[in-house]
Amino acid sequence: MKSLFDLAHQNKKIESRIVVALERVSEAFRVLLWNESKENALSPIQIQILIFLLFHSSEKCKISYLAAEFNMTKPTISDSIKILLQRGLIKKFDDPTDTRSYTISLTHAGKKIAEGSANFAFPIEKPLSSFSGEQKEMLLSGLLKLIHDLNRGGIITIQRMCFTCANYRFEKGTHYCELLKSRLANNELRLDCPEHKTAI
Ligand code: SF4
Repeated sequence: MKSLFDLAHQNKKIESRIVVALERVSEAFRVLLWNESKENALSPIQIQILIFLLFHSSEKCKISYLAAEFNMTKPTISDSIKILLQRGLIKKFDDPTDTRSYTISLTHAGKKIAEGSANFAFPIEKPLSSFSGEQKEMLLSGLLKLIHDLNRGGIITIQRMCFTCANYRFEKGTHYCELLKSRLANNELRLDCPEHKTAI
């Protein structure tokens, strides 16, 4: 099989160019995140953890969940958690249902950094506002399908998207949420839903 980085091959195949384009976007994400972490003297994953804690419910704020969320090992996440604890940016609470586990939350100082950093990816979002509604809908649909396929292929772990939710139905060409008791237009499909219930 020819490499998608082989230019002669890449320039003949749209799938290869899409993957390379996604790589460029992920590079922009990486650079912006790196700049944000440097400003706060933290690592990129430490900034991502703080932002995650800011916007997600407490049952998701545990080492095992964070490891799966960021596709990292538990020891790697634990190392970051130790540093965030030492810096006084997070605190931990025992889990009454599991003595080996604990929940993490932000301290006042951690919340301040998380809130200040939460818009680091805005320069990627901003150009999208000039896309037409149809272009945005097509892009979102394609990306959701790609992410779902990568998740099914075991390449990326946790996804709280409609396609993996027990409340999601697709009938006669229509997306439907049984929890919201509502049809979902293509541009309403969620990628990170607080009400997501993993389909068994
Ligand atoms: S609960 Fe959320 S993720 Fe599940 S189908 Fe409804 S909107 Fe989508």
